[in-house]
Formats: sequence, C-alpha cells, structure tokens
Amino acid sequence: MKKIAFFCIPAHGHTNPMIPVASELVKRGNAVRFYSFNEFEKKIAASGAEFVSCDRFLPSLSEREEAGLKAVSSTELAVQDIRLTLAMDGFLDKEFKSFRPDVVYTDSVCFWGKLNAWKHNVPMVVSTSTFAFNQISSQYMKNSPKELADMIFGLPRLTKELKKLEPYGYHVKNTLSLIQSDNDTDSVVYTSRRFQPCVESFTDHYAFVGPSVFSKAGPKKDNARPLVYISMGTVINDRPDFYGKCIEALKGEDVDVIISCGNALDRDSLGVLPDNIKVYPYVDQLDVLSRANAFITHCGMNSVSESMYMAAPMVLYPQTSEQKAVARRAEELNAGVILKDDSAAGIRAAVRKILDSEEYAQAAMECSKDLRSCPGTAGAAEFIENAPHRSNGVDIVKELNKDCSRFRLLYWVIAPALTVLTGSLIGWKYAWIVGVPAGVLSYPIGSWFKKLRYAALVKKHRENS
Ligand code: UDP
Repeated sequence: MKKIAFFCIPAHGHTNPMIPVASELVKRGNAVRFYSFNEFEKKIAASGAEFVSCDRFLPSLSEREEAGLKAVSSTELAVQDIRLTLAMDGFLDKEFKSFRPDVVYTDSVCFWGKLNAWKHNVPMVVSTSTFAFNQISSQYMKNSPKELADMIFGLPRLTKELKKLEPYGYHVKNTLSLIQSDNDTDSVVYTSRRFQPCVESFTDHYAFVGPSVFSKAGPKKDNARPLVYISMGTVINDRPDFYGKCIEALKGEDVDVIISCGNALDRDSLGVLPDNIKVYPYVDQLDVLSRANAFITHCGMNSVSESMYMAAPMVLYPQTSEQKAVARRAEELNAGVILKDDSAAGIRAAVRKILDSEEYAQAAMECSKDLRSCPGTAGAAEFIENAPHRSNGVDIVKELNKDCSRFRLLYWVIAPALTVLTGSLIGWKYAWIVGVPAGVLSYPIGSWFKKLRYAALVKKHRENS
C-alpha cells in the first residue's frame, strides 16, 4: 500500500483524466489524497480518494487577470500558478510532513505539485493531459502571433514572479523547465504510442496508457439517422457565434444534432431551435460520442481521445496552438478533417464530407481499437505505484543534441575559415560573399541537419529494437 498525493489545476480537461487513475489506485489498496478545488469535489470523492479543498488559496483576480485566464494566456496561467504555489506553501509544508506521501502524482502544468515534490524530495510522476511536448514534438505546435506576443511581452512579468519562489525553497531556472516534458521524469500520457507525435523521442520514463475514461462501453452507431455532436470543451465554450453558424449549417440536413454549450452561455441567445437540434449546458460526452457519427470539436486532447475511443470521426476546429497540434495529428491518422472555412456553408461541407465517406469512420474505428489496446488506468496505476523508474538509457533527444552541438561547432569553425580563405585568396572586399550567407543560413541549415539526424537516429533505434 502506498500513500499518493494528487495535484491538479482547477480545469476539467486536466482533472478528468486523473480521476479514473485515482479510483484504480484506491481499488488496489492505496491511500490517495487529491488536492483540488470544490467544483471537482463530488467526482473526486466518488473515486474513493480523499478530497482536499484548495479553494481558499485561489487569489482574487483583477478584471485584466480574469480576461487573461479566460483567453488561456500562457503568461497569465503561469503567473496565477506561481501565486497559488506561494499561497499554498505553508499549508503544503504541513501536509507533506503529516501525510508523508510515497509518490506525488501531479498535472504537468500544476506548479505547486511539481515544486513541492522536488522541495520535499518525494518521487514524482507527471500526469500529461495533452500530448507530451518536448523540443521535437513541440514542432507540431504552431504558435499564433497573438500567442507569441503574449509569451514575449509577458516574459518580464513572469521572470519577476518566478524570482518570488526562490526564498520559499523552490528552485526554478525558467518556466519552460517547469512545463516542458523532459526525458528523465516519470510521466503518464493519456494517449497511445501511435497517436503521440514523434513518440520515439521519448524515453521509457514515459507510459503511454491511452485515454483515461471510466466507460468500457463500445461504440454503438445504430441511430435512425446520423448524429452530429458539437462541443467547444469546458474552457472557452462561450461561442454563440460559432454555435449559431452550426445551427444555420445543419438545420436543414437529415441529421440529429446535440450541442454542449457550457454554463456561461444564455441558451436563449441562440434563438428558436429547429426540431433536429438540441442544446444542453453539459452532456455525458462519452455516451453521446458512442452514438455520434460526427463530432465538431475544439480539439481538446480529452475530447479528441474520447471521440477516437468511441470511433466518432471529427470536424476539427482547434483554437489554441496545443489544440492545433492535436488536430494535425488526428488529421494525419484520417480520423477527421480540419475545418478551414468556419462559415455555415464550410461547416456543412465538412460535416457532409465526414458523413458521406466511409474512410473517416473506418479510420476512427482503427483509432478506437488502438486506444482500447493501451494499458489504460490499470497501467497508469501500476506505473505510479512503482515510481521512481529506472531507464534503459536510450534517449534519442540526448543523442540528437550532442550531434547538433558537434555540427554547430564544426559549422562555426568551417564558415569563418572559408570566409578568411575567400578574403585572402580573392580579396577582402569579397569575403562577405561567403560570410554573410553563412551567418544568415546557419539557422535553416542547423534545422535541416537536426531533422535529418533525428530521422537517422529513429531509424537506427527502430532497427536495434
Ligand atoms: N465534457 C463533458 N461534457 C460536456 C463537455 C465536456 O463531459 O458537455 C468533458 C469531456 O468529456 C472532456 C472534458 O470535459 O473529458 C473536456 O476536456 P478537453 O481536454 O477536451 O477540453 P477543455 O475543456 O480542457 O478545453
């Protein structure tokens, strides 16, 4: 029997996958204490874990901060994470001393979970509710100009906040070191090896356990006519404009439609609904997906995994860079199409494409079989119980970084040497002809080398294993 402390940020998408894992650990005789927030109390308590409320530490927010959080600004999220960590410091010091956890299981962006595991020297396993992102797989994420601006302009504020952690015994180099997946940390990822992009770049410290869902029910697509389900998730779901366009797109079609619009939206704002369309604030998503023939989704990792699990092909409408990565990978597996034109006509065309071609339903069924063959919550529980894990030492990213450093060194020896050679042989006024392109092209050439080398290393390791 182990004592396991769970930590998560107050977000459904991050908390939901941890709950079945908590339930499994409790069933196996472990003591689980789950540090979370009141809105999740019922679900957590139902899992058998001991719920500990952290609501009293939530900082009161200014209007600007609240707007930042609503817009999923990474700076705002990190700043609030740091504030919560500081507010909870004394409380968690006491908790670690009294509960004495054997393992900490913490969400990947829950700073207080990670920082306290390090501070109190307790083995830690990270719960990764989206893909695992490292320097290779993060190339799947294309940050929008708005997200980049948020990161760049937010940096001074974030650096100032990070400095406040030091006196409390939390040592942090930078935010990236706190949130990026690294190859030495035991991590559970709720997807399959097949769905994870660049899976070879992760060491055996990673357990790809498949989606963490309570339901063992299978897909059941025996509706009288196709069912289209629409949800923008639980975070940025106040989108009457988009639901309106979906209603416009599908009102005359021979399909049934269920829209989950969240609690923030006034349903009357959507006007009188056509007979074939029903709108709810929240639905049992797994149940709806088991019957759905198409799912218009914002591409939250949980929603996409659940959709694949229930073999529902998707119209992918990502809003953030992380969701774009999920959408891109789902499209690569043919489990859906990315919605490029979000007008009513564009939405109708995308839904028809999914419904009229068997290939998407078949690809979604392949994904369902793959995800159902993963170790699941039992695998996650076993991985957590046995932490910390030893590695077999295969780390492609480490090898790649070594090779890239060597290449860079060689490049910066050869490029200046060629510049000097050109200058001395042809004349110094011509030296720039070599020097300038060598400088300008150093980044693309470096990236090209990295890509080639990564492919070669993956091939080598596949052959060896
Ligand atoms: N969800 C649900 N019913 C709803 C809407 C959402 O059960 O009506 C659940 C869904 O099953 C998923 C989670 O909320 O597990 C949403 O997580 P996701 O990562 O997809 O998106 P986020 O809400 O974090 O943006």
